Amino acid sequence: VTDDRVARIASSIRVIPDFPKPGIMFQDITTMLLDPVAFKDTIDLFVERYREKDISVVAGVEARGFIFGPPIALALGAKFVPIRKPNKLPGAVISEEYSLEYGTDKMEMHVGAVQTGERVLIIDDLIATGGTLAAAIKLLERVGANVVECACVIELADLKGRDRLGDKPVFVLVSST
Ligand code: AMP
Repeated sequence: VTDDRVARIASSIRVIPDFPKPGIMFQDITTMLLDPVAFKDTIDLFVERYREKDISVVAGVEARGFIFGPPIALALGAKFVPIRKPNKLPGAVISEEYSLEYGTDKMEMHVGAVQTGERVLIIDDLIATGGTLAAAIKLLERVGANVVECACVIELADLKGRDRLGDKPVFVLVSST
């Protein structure tokens, strides 16, 4: 993205080395939330991109997709659907298992939250290996949704997470190495 607002957004993100374990450069978006201009610009950039795209569902991936997703959904006049870690949602769920560096994890969504044919935007804070977004796409496609695009604030470009998403487009504001 080329936009004057992106530089401020990029510099508002704090990088914490070796969290949660050695070798990981953790991209901490909580410092961006302390800068209301950077936070608003982030939301605005996404809203500007999707305003005319007929999105009826913004699906946010726990946990940080819950920070960015709802304001985007409100601005688009779309519903917000949380995609959660296992055993958090009280109603009937559909779940998707995916692999982590060690072992597997699961994500869940309420049955009936998204209808067949709905146009969905998936939001998370960051794409690393792409495993999380790939699972979210699968989950939504299993209920017949049309995943229009995934959007993240940050991309760790060296990890080539996009390659795991097939031809599904990913829109990012800040690319980091
Ligand atoms: P992945 O499935 O490998 O694309 O990882 C993406 C998910 O893990 C997102 O929900 C991120 O919030 C989180 N994540 C992975 N790597 C980092 C990192 N370096 N800094 C912050 N969050 C990360």
